[in-house]
Amino acid sequence: MSQTILIVEDEPSIVTLLKYNLEQENFITEVAYDGEEAIELFKANEYDLIVLDIMLPKMDGIKVCKTIRMINKHIPIIMLTAKDSEYDKIQGLEIGADDYLTKPFSPKELLARIQAILRRIGNAPLSEGEVLKNGDISIYPQQYKVYFKDNLLELTKKEYELLVYLTKHKGEILSREQLLHAVWEFDFVGDSRIVDVQVSHLREKIEENTRKPSYIKTVRGFGYKMEEYT
Ligand code: CA
Repeated sequence: MSQTILIVEDEPSIVTLLKYNLEQENFITEVAYDGEEAIELFKANEYDLIVLDIMLPKMDGIKVCKTIRMINKHIPIIMLTAKDSEYDKIQGLEIGADDYLTKPFSPKELLARIQAILRRIGNAPLSEGEVLKNGDISIYPQQYKVYFKDNLLELTKKEYELLVYLTKHKGEILSREQLLHAVWEFDFVGDSRIVDVQVSHLREKIEENTRKPSYIKTVRGFGYKMEEYT
């Protein structure tokens, strides 16, 4: 399965260069041309990595990086800086980027950094026989089976897919749109209530008290979060 990279850059020549080189390596790319668009796209879609320029219209890359980190602590971010002095500045700010490249950079160098990060975080699809565990939930993807405290759960296909997605992203705040996009794979026009309906079905199966859920928490006005357990 191809991995998707969000390129945040306003200079068309650099966008073209990045797109070309990443797509040559079978990455899927999407482009945001300013900081606000980057945040919107990030909230609505799922990406495996972000390449983020610092000098951007509307909202600079530092602010974009901080905003994304408030929503998601894990997504890898590589920042592009125009000069070394900016590099020092960001380092000092510790804004949560994973790596930095100073312009002008070679596409090969960027690709090497991207691949190194993706390898490091092991963002690979689940391998056969692997078990996804979170507290009393155990998911066996190979058999499409889910156990809660040793009881086999009867889940619909969508409940199963939603639970797998939430569990893979445990600890992260996920927007309704992101869940809709990930699980239903097409855009319901404006109606993300289907996510709420499926979440309430899931809660009935895995929560001791559906009014005070300990697994799938509601993030008011935004979406949901799967609580992380050992
Ligand atoms: Ca720029």
